[in-house]
Amino acid sequence: MSHSFTLSDKTIAFLKEPKKLLIHGQWVAPLNKQYFAAINPSNNQEISQIPLAESSDVDHAVDSANKSFENHWKTVSAVEKASLMFRLADLIERDQQTLMELETLDNGKPLSKAQYDMDACIHHFRYYAGWATKIEGATYPVSKDALVYTQKEPLGVVGLIVPWNFPLMIASWKLAPALACGNCCVLKPSEKTSLSALYLGKLIQEAGFPKGVVNIITGNGNPTGIALVRHQQIDKISFTGSTKTGKFISQQNAHSTLKRVSLELGGKSPNVIFSDADIEKVTQSLHWSSFYNTGQECTLGSRVFIQKTIFDQVIDQLIKQSKKLSIGHGLENPDLGPLIDQGQFKHVMDYIKSGQNEGAELICGGHRLNDKHLKDGYFMGPTIFSHQNDRLKIVNEEIFGPVVVVSSFDSYDQVIQRANDSPYGLAAGVWTQSHSKALQFANDVKAGTVWINGWDQFSPAVPFGGFKDSGIGKEMGKSAIDLYTQEKTVWLNY
Ligand code: NAD
Repeated sequence: MSHSFTLSDKTIAFLKEPKKLLIHGQWVAPLNKQYFAAINPSNNQEISQIPLAESSDVDHAVDSANKSFENHWKTVSAVEKASLMFRLADLIERDQQTLMELETLDNGKPLSKAQYDMDACIHHFRYYAGWATKIEGATYPVSKDALVYTQKEPLGVVGLIVPWNFPLMIASWKLAPALACGNCCVLKPSEKTSLSALYLGKLIQEAGFPKGVVNIITGNGNPTGIALVRHQQIDKISFTGSTKTGKFISQQNAHSTLKRVSLELGGKSPNVIFSDADIEKVTQSLHWSSFYNTGQECTLGSRVFIQKTIFDQVIDQLIKQSKKLSIGHGLENPDLGPLIDQGQFKHVMDYIKSGQNEGAELICGGHRLNDKHLKDGYFMGPTIFSHQNDRLKIVNEEIFGPVVVVSSFDSYDQVIQRANDSPYGLAAGVWTQSHSKALQFANDVKAGTVWINGWDQFSPAVPFGGFKDSGIGKEMGKSAIDLYTQEKTVWLNY
């Protein structure tokens, strides 16, 4: 069926173009002339060649951002910055189909899910365009002899490093507030999904952003990401990715100039279902909160706890709904696409073996899908493990694939202790018709976001970020303004 999908003319034309780095308003080849392949995870075929930026390219990009900040961008009015951002949002909307197709080809996600991502990008740019003119300081009436006030200033140059699971959406979570706050940016997409960021670069140029305000460099964690993280002329790193890389960035920071660092990291979120939950609503949600994006989402409820009296009923429904999920090439617009690549597939399979070896019960899934038309991609169906041992590796560690672990519990006190028994603290969910129990859970659980009788709700206006090993700092809403500004205090003595 994917063979019958026709890509838009703009997508085809973009795929034919040689890919370059966006530095100081120009598309330039990497200095070392090295490239790597962008691979479609649905069929393992090469889509494009992507430039590999090394430290000398990173130096140029950072230098460009610094020059642009000092010589121009910091003098541009907030109204003008806002209108550039509104224009960019309009252009993303205009080329939404192309961006969706590129994201689907590069990441494997279903087209309709890529459409959701692009809607979120547009909303983010519009929301933060509105903020550009509303970044305020305060006055402090502490002395009759002095005027004391604060103002929020841009940081300068920010390095934005993003993962592959929601490539352009997470890039926009960072770019939009960084620009609204008056910073210049060096954006590095994941080496596994560079195309949508490069296309965005074209739209940034078309929108009329001055040269060097947004630079886009592509390449691996090593050398490209590391060069950005270690760079002495960068004022902040905003990173989304694994906790392992987040910890590496924090260590590097201690040996470099002390940059501001915000980190959105991994998760292993508890999803707790009490016996007084609306089972109908749980049934509609549980397969999505377990397997959305083929499980490659940081906030998924990958540890499910079900109260004993309804355990069998809920599990039966979960198995039934999961088996209904269609799996296929992203362009066919199924419910779930493939895993991102061979490495991720092996990583997930290793966890499945570990779960079996450690004694968890594999209820369904757990193997590669080998149907003729899927055999070249990295497809795996929803995989459910049942267990009663919270010390298992599959229960403690982030798997980042379509694997959920389910367990029964007796009481509130027992389940809240088990829900919090994790190094992560990104999100949590609770299902109950008792508001007092739900609010008690929201107070007690150690997680940055709590969904009561729902899952995976986001808005550009609502802060999002993790506790514990899930990160430092909150993106979105007013919180992101604090991430991309620094506050200056002024005492004017009369
Ligand atoms: P990753 O850490 O491997 O890579 C993320 C980005 O960092 C990529 O651009 C990569 O090239 C770069 N990178 C890798 N090593 C680097 C290094 N040493 N120095 C500098 N940059 C480096 O993560 P991933 O596999 O791309 O993404 C999956 C992870 O991201 C999961 O753990 C997931 O939970 C997490 N994630 C978190 C959020 C959130 O908002 N909390 C959102 C999405 C994904």
